[in-house]
Amino acid sequence: MAVKRDYYEVLGLPRDASTEDIKKAFRKLAMQHHPDRNHDAGASERFKEVNEAYEVLSNEDKRAAYDRYGHAGADNVFGRGFEGYDMGGFGDIFEAFFGGGTTTRTRRQTARRGNDLKYNISITFEEAALGCEKEVEITRTELCPTCRGTRSKPGVQPVRCNSCGGTGQIRHVQRSLFGQFVNTAICSDCQGEGTVIKEHCPDCRGTGYQKHKRRISVTVPAGINNTNGIRLTGEGEAGYRGGPAGNLFVMVNVKAHEYFRREDDDVVYELPVNFAQAALGDEVEVPTLYGKCKMKIPSGSQNGKVFKLKDKGIAHLHSGGRGDQLVVLNVMTPDSLSKEQRHLFEELSKSLGNIKRKDVDY
Ligand SMILES: [Zn+2]
Ligand SMILES: [Zn+2]
Repeated sequence: MAVKRDYYEVLGLPRDASTEDIKKAFRKLAMQHHPDRNHDAGASERFKEVNEAYEVLSNEDKRAAYDRYGHAGADNVFGRGFEGYDMGGFGDIFEAFFGGGTTTRTRRQTARRGNDLKYNISITFEEAALGCEKEVEITRTELCPTCRGTRSKPGVQPVRCNSCGGTGQIRHVQRSLFGQFVNTAICSDCQGEGTVIKEHCPDCRGTGYQKHKRRISVTVPAGINNTNGIRLTGEGEAGYRGGPAGNLFVMVNVKAHEYFRREDDDVVYELPVNFAQAALGDEVEVPTLYGKCKMKIPSGSQNGKVFKLKDKGIAHLHSGGRGDQLVVLNVMTPDSLSKEQRHLFEELSKSLGNIKRKDVDY
């Protein structure tokens, strides 16, 4: 696979380009490389590349991530208001009191939530717009079903720890210049539990956990975008000491579409027409996410005119309803003419005459 080009380079912009510059550059390049208009080899690839660059640079969050981390960054942005995930691990809590006090190093074996997992999926433009079901395969730590995480062979009870007498702590008295310290440390034989396991569970070798490969189905809601993630509560790694499992975060990468482009929840489609269609009007069929749709082009339509196909856009993610499809008229100038066409254009040119320009009088 070819190396991904820098998005600024793709759009021919400096890194401090304004939002307006990005929009302008994109429009220009998208027109230039549109597969309907440009039949050169590689035009469609270039069109996709331009789309992808615009998708990232036109989004504030993604652009910031791209500026910092490059291509990898843009693929991993959380949406605004999207709950960040934490990796679950608490550091040791260390408390120290000097001057004849007690030094306690506590690493309490208390319940805590399992680690979160992250998974990236790629979906098509249509799948993002209409929603879909996906399956992801993850490997995660789960509680051992045999011992339910107790680590003991079923039926064999743990016994009191001899080293600490069941308190889970060992105290050492230390003398120093500042006075007498009492050091309390976690008992290393029982890890502070006060009990030791007499016979380990054979199925997990006494760890309490097992690794499993799981296929998990993910409902991707209609209207999802690159900046959104899906949280599957409790589908992460098993919790510790009876704590709840972590979450699974599925990050979505929406592939660029060959013809459609997304603007918020609207779908933008450029419709190529010839001079005659624009001048005389026509009835055409345009593709939409929901199948082909008939559309009237009124006579005398100008290049760039936008027609709205109501509710043919992308579902709103957080509310009901959908965006629209915006059909942008793209009047194509023929780049080669047959003899007959040339003759007709010449006749037409005579008939139309020159367009009167307002600025000519100046
Ligand atoms: Zn076990
Ligand atoms: Zn102990």
